Amino acid sequence: MNIHEYQAKSILSDFAVPVPRGRLATTTEAAVDGCRELGGSVWVVKAQIHAGGRGKAGGVKVCRSPEAVAEAAGALLGHRLVTHQTGSEGKVVNKLYIEEGLEIAHEYYLSLLIDREQGKPAFVVSPRGGTDIEQVAAEEPAAIRSFAVDDTQTVDDTTARAIADFLTVPSDMRPLLQSLLDAFNQRDAALIELNPLVACGDGRLVALDAKMAIDDNALYRQPEMAKLRDLAEEDPREVEAAAYGLNYIALDGTIGCMVNGAGLAMATMDIIQRKGAKPANFLDVGGGVTVESATEGFKLLLADRHVRAVLVNIFGGIVRCDIIANGLLAAQKIVQSQVPVVMRLVGTHEEEGQAIIRDAGIDVRWATTLDEAATMVVAAHP
Ligand code: GDP
Ligand code: MN
Repeated sequence: MNIHEYQAKSILSDFAVPVPRGRLATTTEAAVDGCRELGGSVWVVKAQIHAGGRGKAGGVKVCRSPEAVAEAAGALLGHRLVTHQTGSEGKVVNKLYIEEGLEIAHEYYLSLLIDREQGKPAFVVSPRGGTDIEQVAAEEPAAIRSFAVDDTQTVDDTTARAIADFLTVPSDMRPLLQSLLDAFNQRDAALIELNPLVACGDGRLVALDAKMAIDDNALYRQPEMAKLRDLAEEDPREVEAAAYGLNYIALDGTIGCMVNGAGLAMATMDIIQRKGAKPANFLDVGGGVTVESATEGFKLLLADRHVRAVLVNIFGGIVRCDIIANGLLAAQKIVQSQVPVVMRLVGTHEEEGQAIIRDAGIDVRWATTLDEAATMVVAAHP
């Protein structure tokens, strides 16, 4: 689960990570009030969306007067911001974070994530902060280094010094690194990324930008974190699917997929690509599927204007084919879609499932194998 920059900074601040002072604003007036409360003469108006690359896209504005803050706020609020991370549709800016402007001497990159090979948290750092870390990785991989945390979950002096040396930071970084590690562990984070972490003119290290993601699987024991979810930032189709216990991820192709099991869903997406088309989604209905949730899944696919054909690939084990069939039936009663549907419906209760579709007179093209189904759906899609 991703959270906003202002939320991440509030959490980090609880762990004594230095962050700029800031005020949240959802109106131009509140933005101006915020800058007056903060005082000083330079402010930064930052669009709060769940995507990076805001700086280059005009979503981070350095302002030198309250009038300039008002102008920046007016230009951002309610408008779509397109960054290289939002996709071409962009994201509507509903919230702004107004911060005191800082004098920056150097920008570093510092993140904390799980190194899966070592099974430990690791700091990933680079002296080339402020730019896209993906670009640094491509152009100058030696400028990025990873430092694993030992099992005591304490940052020892040797590691702290090695990180500081690599970044050429003169001060002792251990307290900052330990604070980040504590925040990471105690809030069940999957990622903390400071890009940039800056050295100010006076040498102070401050988290100028902060991105934080919380491990979804830990939300049950992190109720305070779960409250930070901003549904406006998430794909409405994914939010809806999650409410029905479906594993759904929207993609940019044209073939809707309804599959049981994550592995089978991935194989289905692969074979669609192999046949020359692209999947519109990943959808694993899971073992606990009910007629209601299957209906919701079909509604999502059939009502999606990007979807030009649907492939149902059910290999019924725990999942019963008649449940899937009744789901399609119920969804078609509501959506009445003309989108061609290719069905491979085999396994538990397969005869019942196929009979339900046939008896209802729903137009479905039947396939026996996955290969055949994929060929048919690609041919069926206009
Ligand atoms: P991102 O582009 O979405 O990652 O947004 P960031 O928060 O990283 O801001 C982008 C850039 O804006 C930073 O790398 C800084 O160069 C600049 N910036 C942000 N805040 C300040 C500030 O307080 N003072 C100055 N001078 N520049 C800032
Ligand atoms: Mn950034």
